[in-house]
Amino acid sequence: VQSPALALMTFPAPADGPAHRLADATAPALRADDLAATRGDGIFESILMTGGRLHGLGAHLRRMQRSAAMSGLPEIDVDAWAAAAHAVAAEHPAVPELMVKLCYSRGIEGSGVPTGWLLAFPNGDVTRERTEGADVLLLERGVSSDLADRAPWLLLGAKTLSYAMNLAAQRHARAAGADDVLFTSTDGLVMEGPTSTLVATYGDEIVTPVPEIGILPGTTQERVFAWARGRGMRPAHVKLPVEQLASADTLWLVSSGRLCVPIRSLDGVARRFDAGMQADLLHHLTTVPDGE
Ligand code: PLP
Repeated sequence: VQSPALALMTFPAPADGPAHRLADATAPALRADDLAATRGDGIFESILMTGGRLHGLGAHLRRMQRSAAMSGLPEIDVDAWAAAAHAVAAEHPAVPELMVKLCYSRGIEGSGVPTGWLLAFPNGDVTRERTEGADVLLLERGVSSDLADRAPWLLLGAKTLSYAMNLAAQRHARAAGADDVLFTSTDGLVMEGPTSTLVATYGDEIVTPVPEIGILPGTTQERVFAWARGRGMRPAHVKLPVEQLASADTLWLVSSGRLCVPIRSLDGVARRFDAGMQADLLHHLTTVPDGE
């Protein structure tokens, strides 16, 4: 098994030279008392590289900055992380789809110094879901859509390293014979998937839930909206009641790793999707530079 490529960040950054250094991913790199390991206290980003391009790098780094601010972590140096992301990607042997993961934790307990590291590894094979679609279950997230504002300590909408709940929801769906999950709020709104954003089309309208309800603003969703504008569609961020899912033309779960996965059934009810449109969107997301 090929091991990932690894880069470690140095804080504070050296005055001369880059803030990262490449390291051996099979050797110890993280201390056992790092708050990433003991508390999941940190944030991350996962960025897809195809054809030598890190898709949406700028958007990912802006979101990382936002997650850092929400979590009370020291501000990140966006240029230093961008340089490290390019370096770790270049270190990995060429593959059709490479994932670059940026991790940033509160560091060793009591030290006051954050820890940062980056991994590059091949993306998993998601061909089946991209072409055939996914069976999705609606699951309760247990929060109301106005909670993010009132309870910032819940870090709703920050991309934290605490993904145990997200993965548990996906395991629950798989144990029930489905592929993935769409979370709902206690007041009946559609939220997001455990690792994806929902996008829906209604005629020439294309919508996604507003981030203010306590979900992660998606970078792939932004790229889907750019594609849709090019087709003359009208994009909007909305509060989407669960009942309105039934009348959508197409439902997608979109994310950096899987790009766009059409929902082919929701809670066991079969749904249609336009295979031509899916192929066109996938082609756009895989090949069109996004200016970053
Ligand atoms: N929502 C959550 C909770 C996620 O974890 C992710 C990505 O993993 C997304 C949405 C989609 O974000 P992006 O398209 O930027 O990968």
